[in-house]
Amino acid sequence: MSDPRDLFRSYLRQRAELGDAELVLDRHTSSELREMLSPQPAAASRPPASVPAPATSSAPPRDPSPAPVRTSQAPSAAPLPHVRAGAQPPGATPMRPAADAPARGPSNEEIFALPVLASVRDIALGCPRCGLARTRTRVVFGEGSETAELMVVGEAPGENEDRQGRPFVGRAGQLLDLLLMTVGFPRETVYICNVLKCRPPGNRNPAPGEVEACSPYLLKQVELVRPKVIMAFGTFAAQTLLGTDVAIGRLRGRVHSYQGTPLVPTYHPAALLRNSGWVRAVWDDLQRARAILG
Ligand code: URA
Repeated sequence: MSDPRDLFRSYLRQRAELGDAELVLDRHTSSELREMLSPQPAAASRPPASVPAPATSSAPPRDPSPAPVRTSQAPSAAPLPHVRAGAQPPGATPMRPAADAPARGPSNEEIFALPVLASVRDIALGCPRCGLARTRTRVVFGEGSETAELMVVGEAPGENEDRQGRPFVGRAGQLLDLLLMTVGFPRETVYICNVLKCRPPGNRNPAPGEVEACSPYLLKQVELVRPKVIMAFGTFAAQTLLGTDVAIGRLRGRVHSYQGTPLVPTYHPAALLRNSGWVRAVWDDLQRARAILG
């Protein structure tokens, strides 16, 4: 089953067979849900609250429209965490450059010192810290409400995201939007980003050096958005933020803490497209995040 809407329909059927007469749809009526589940073109997802500006990499951006960004966010004084494959907090012994990263671009300390999301994004859009700078089309920094209570962290841009410069706009993104909406988090109310800001060629897994080179941007995004809860979708998001190599199947199912912020790990939506049996688990994890926000 490949269409996210089919997947969701089948999940709703399962729930009904199990005797669940009601679903938590929060601000959505049943007719809105039917509309969401009816066939529609892939590009029909809601526009983001803010759209990233074009990348300044050597590859020419395909969509040169600039983006509005709020710049009034005050920096948080909270220390940044030590992550397994990622960056270190300010004041820590400087890390060695990633093995497969050119020794150029902003240092971790320079990234950690940036005061607002707009400046972090400006730096990230021209980032040469790892080899993905040579193969990307667009840097996918992240988007959404900069005061979001829920922050969604995925793995890395795929082909569609690389082309559009926006996170989660392909099939996995459609499913993510749908799942978020059904628990009362329409896409424009959350902040969405990835561990890697550039697409690994052929959608391969992120390499450790790439995670190490890129994670300071993620940590800074968390620090500046200051969400009340983080949902980590997939192995790389969960492991990077929790500084562990425990499998996602063992991490999910309970609430963890990232620097005092509740973190709910769950399966990646792309994994759900391959294994619809995990939809229930993701639904339960979304409810965990929902319950934290009340
Ligand atoms: N998968 C991710 O992890 N992130 C995206 O932005 C798209 C697909």
